[in-house]
Formats: sequence, structure tokens, C-alpha cells
Amino acid sequence: MAKTIIKMKKKKKIALIAHDNRKIDLLEWAKFNRDLLAKHELFGTGTTGQLIENELDIKVQKFKSGPLGGDQQVGAKIAEGDIDFLIFFWDPLEPMPHDPDVKALLRISVVYNIPVANNRSSADFIISSPLMSTEYSRELIDYKERILKAEGINLVQS
Ligand code: PGA
Repeated sequence: MAKTIIKMKKKKKIALIAHDNRKIDLLEWAKFNRDLLAKHELFGTGTTGQLIENELDIKVQKFKSGPLGGDQQVGAKIAEGDIDFLIFFWDPLEPMPHDPDVKALLRISVVYNIPVANNRSSADFIISSPLMSTEYSRELIDYKERILKAEGINLVQS
């Protein structure tokens, strides 16, 4: 299958999201990694973004609050190639009114092959990777052929 490459620059575009019961954990993690995060461009859903901006005194580009469409806005940015990776501490113990948005965001992260951390140890491994300070060629699978095939359309001429 054909592949498309997206170049991730040295300065990464990082999206940060945490559900309410996971916000303290994300804030602690962000505080601990403040100097590393300051080298990158930060994005976040409304409340998470505001808390991180206040705590770290670093500008965060804020979307709407998650339940009001923020997760979908982050997903759209990922699809446009404008977010390089996602730190998303979702709550494994509470059902959310916007669970479908959460699922969609996690799905689109896989489609666009971005690194995702859903807990602190994964976030630690990502932030301490040597790839954080280099350019990186992110490969996208071209799903077009597979979608057309599922729809019974064959692109190969006989
Ligand atoms: P919030 O949204 O940062 O606005 O709280 C997070 C979420 O619930 O997805």
C-alpha cells in the first residue's frame, strides 16, 4: 500500500487533554516537564489548557472544553497534520457524556499515526525520547485503496 510522509519538526505541536479526575496527574507531569514542554508548541482542550497555562506560565492554544467539542477540534487538527502528538489522560472509571468524541479522537490518532500517551508512564517515555529534539518522518498508511475495495471499486484496470 502507498505511504505518505508527514515531517514532524524539531519543535513539536503537542495536544494536552485530561478528564477531571486525571487533571491533577497531568498538571503534576506537566510541571515536572515544564522546561522540555516550553521548547514546543502547546495545545489543549478548554479547561485543561487553561490550567496548564496558569501552572506553567507557558502559552497554550486552547480549544473548546472537551464535552463542548474540544476533543473533536483536536481530532480535526490531527487530521489536518497540525498536531504532532497527543497526551490524553482519560478517566478509565467514569463514563462521559462525550465518550463517542473520546473514541473518535483516539481513533483518528491511530489513523494519522501520531504518538499518544494515555497515562503518565507513556507520557514519560514519549517526552524523554531522543526523537523529541529531532525531525521525524511520520508515515501515513494510504487507506484509500482499502476503502474503495470495501465499497467494491477496483482501481486496477484489467
Ligand atoms: P476539558 O476537556 O479540558 O475542557 O476539561 C477535557 C475532556 O473532557 O475531554
